[in-house]
Amino acid sequence: MKTPEIIEKEAREILSSLPETPSAKDRAAIPPQAMPQQDPAVRIHNMSEVALGYTEDEALVEANRCLQCRNKPCVQGCPVGIDIPAFIHRITERDYAGAMDIIQESSLLPAICGRVCPQENQCQLHCTVGRMHKDIDKAVAIGRLERFVADHQGDEAKLPQIAPDTGLKVAVVGSGPASIACAADVRRAGHSVTVFEALHKMGGVLSYGIPEFRLPKRLVDKELSKLEAMGIDFERNVLIGRTRTIRELMEEDGYDAVFVGTGAGLPKFMNIPGENLISVFSANEYLTRSNLMKAYDTEHALTPYFRSHRVAVFGGGNVAMDAARTALRLGAETVDIVYRRTREEMPARKEEVEHAVEEGCNLRTLSQPVEILGDENGLVKGVVIRRCELGEPDASGRRAPVEIPGSDYTVEYDTVIVSIGNASNPLIKKTTPEIETNRRGNFIVDEKTNETSMKGVFAGGDIVLGAATVILAMGQGRKAAAAINEYLREKK
Ligand code: FAD
Ligand code: SF4
Ligand code: SF4
Repeated sequence: MKTPEIIEKEAREILSSLPETPSAKDRAAIPPQAMPQQDPAVRIHNMSEVALGYTEDEALVEANRCLQCRNKPCVQGCPVGIDIPAFIHRITERDYAGAMDIIQESSLLPAICGRVCPQENQCQLHCTVGRMHKDIDKAVAIGRLERFVADHQGDEAKLPQIAPDTGLKVAVVGSGPASIACAADVRRAGHSVTVFEALHKMGGVLSYGIPEFRLPKRLVDKELSKLEAMGIDFERNVLIGRTRTIRELMEEDGYDAVFVGTGAGLPKFMNIPGENLISVFSANEYLTRSNLMKAYDTEHALTPYFRSHRVAVFGGGNVAMDAARTALRLGAETVDIVYRRTREEMPARKEEVEHAVEEGCNLRTLSQPVEILGDENGLVKGVVIRRCELGEPDASGRRAPVEIPGSDYTVEYDTVIVSIGNASNPLIKKTTPEIETNRRGNFIVDEKTNETSMKGVFAGGDIVLGAATVILAMGQGRKAAAAINEYLREKK
């Protein structure tokens, strides 16, 4: 791994050798700029961000790799349709304010999306440069450039314009990315907006799920403060479905429309013996204790964390990587990621798996936990694991794990973190039977408007899609906002 100093030195050299107006050939010859990172040996002892972000020189070099394709294939891969070549062009001109304006026409959260978007499956997947090299790792690093612009502009970003007051009121339930995007666009149209959040902190998974070392919470707070400055009202500690129902919001509290963005926060379990032992956690609980309650700050945190030595994390997705890397930072000596397929089939981003391995997490693949063993105090003392092999592809297109009979073995652990996915929270469904849901409990919405089966109630994000991504949730929030604005125009 190159040090940040070497990456910067090489970028400076490339920049000084570039002609004033580089040709397509010059651009194609520029090597991809690596992301400077904290050294793994250092970073496992702190919660600070792993990826340090491009310096100005590095961003200029990377931006010069963009060929400014006329047909903009990358834009088709961005769920909110950011004009990618246009903002990258502004970077090459060192017009960072201009770049920020272009990004903000489509996304209010560039500092966040630039960090956590699975770009390799979205904008960068379609990048001509990556395709030319037949290597996705050589695509223009759109996300990193977006992050650079957001970090560089930061406090100077302008607030969007807000239309004159319409006198109409919209309630937004939940404060994750779907709700944030919806609230901002509805407010821009001049409606008054109140966001109701069950927790004491706004931001949804951005605040309680994704760890500080991947997404610093000061950035989430800063993005949310923009919404407050736009006049959006935030009501914390309000559990819709308990404190107020959707019907009460509309019939008694005078809300003209409601957007539900309550996410997929109900952890799934494996239903194997021993899952009720004391030191078995859902990844949600484990990460919430660390991120939201700051359990790692042992001197100040009111919620302590369980001191682990040997941790097994069940699952192979991004959430499993986050839980495993958090466990290491909380002092565990051994962290095994127990996954029933191989590394290639892991649903987590390649970069997240690489970071986990660099930091010392072990990948125990082709392994299916079948029982968690407890001691006399009700604490975990080990896990019985069955070996697997890969069979024929299943419905997901990946080769299915097939358990090998008689291959069970036991490994000692004192903590288990179950991270095999999340389902939607059933509370609103139970208290608002008018809203139709599918068999998974996700809200069924009109494809064009995101309106539910209850008139005036719209929904988006993970509550509709199942556990998905930040930018897909934002895309849904924006689509619903456009439909809400139209609905209110007709209602007026
Ligand atoms: P959420 O972000 O889940 O927000 C829902 C909010 O609604 C929560 O704050 C919740 O408290 C609140 N709420 C729920 N019920 C009620 C109620 N009844 N009343 C009031 N409030 C309520 N995606 C990526 O793109 N990149 C990543 O790197 C990534 N990493 C992830 C890591 C983790 C640990 C997790 C859990 C998810 C990750 N995701 C990632 C997925 C992504 O965060 C989600 O897809 C996205 O946050 C969904 O947004 P949302 O607005 O639909 O819901
Ligand atoms: Fe790419 Fe995400 Fe940015 Fe869109 S928001 S350009 S998908 S990084
Ligand atoms: Fe630039 Fe790649 Fe988009 Fe083309 S596809 S405009 S090279 S980012």
